[in-house]
Amino acid sequence: MDYIEREKISTKSSLISIFVNALLALLKIFIGFITNSMAILADGLDTATDILTSIMTLIAGKISNKPPDIEHPYGHERAETIATKVVSLIIIYAGLEVFISSIQRLIKNKVIIENTTYVLIIALISVISKFILYKYRLSVGRKIKSNAIIADALNMRNDILTSSSVLIGIAIIYFTGIWWLDPIIAIFVSFMILKTGFEQFLESSNEFMESSPELKDIYNCIIEEANNISYIKNPHKIRARKFGYKILIDMHLELPPNMTVEEANNICANFEKHIIEKNNQIKDIVIHVEPYGNAEKEEFGINSNNIINLKGE
Ligand SMILES: [Zn+2]
Repeated sequence: MDYIEREKISTKSSLISIFVNALLALLKIFIGFITNSMAILADGLDTATDILTSIMTLIAGKISNKPPDIEHPYGHERAETIATKVVSLIIIYAGLEVFISSIQRLIKNKVIIENTTYVLIIALISVISKFILYKYRLSVGRKIKSNAIIADALNMRNDILTSSSVLIGIAIIYFTGIWWLDPIIAIFVSFMILKTGFEQFLESSNEFMESSPELKDIYNCIIEEANNISYIKNPHKIRARKFGYKILIDMHLELPPNMTVEEANNICANFEKHIIEKNNQIKDIVIHVEPYGNAEKEEFGINSNNIINLKGE
């Protein structure tokens, strides 16, 4: 499957997902307003945040796919990180709004939900269509081997859980008439919205801070390869960072003091080739060469001594 074909399938699947979610969100928010049900309104807002995420991912994906240019020599991948950060703040805001309104509803007087049947039907439609959408996204993600789409599909399981809890809650209200169950479910939904928001906030923060504990395998591989190649000693000050799907490496190593620049260059080039062969996500390695036993004080970066302290996955 070529690049253009893959891009086409991915865009089509994202558009279908946005369209279905938009329809669901509009229906749920509308029904929420006419029936006074906080729970279905909150569920509708939760779906709306998914649309926002999908649209931002789609737009940011187009920007981040652009090749590097003279003004952006590292490429444009951070566009996705910026999008995630912005979306996370909007989601946190939506979650807080739902939470506060539900608490107010609980404290204030009893609110009767009108036409509970409508709410029940919409909640049922929501669960079924979200389940179909989840299966569809998962199969597309697996077909074109897109981690982003698979992650999006797996994320939908949370939405199915949210919509199911709304469905069950509304069914109980339908049969028993316990009015305060509605804001209680809405509070539960607001926690789910806040959870997504904070997760996205932390994830994008880690990317901006170039935190990379999950790259422990990469660090291990670099140290191991360095030890396997003759003449190379003491790989240190290794720093790996993620730039979108790419990984960039900066590091120091030691070579014999009397080696010519040409020999040193050949050894480094061979070393780089080995590492990139093992990890095709690594797009660039910058190596600083020092003579054996170089006694400069270097306190940060990963080396064979401190790697054990790295809490990788
Ligand atoms: Zn050094």
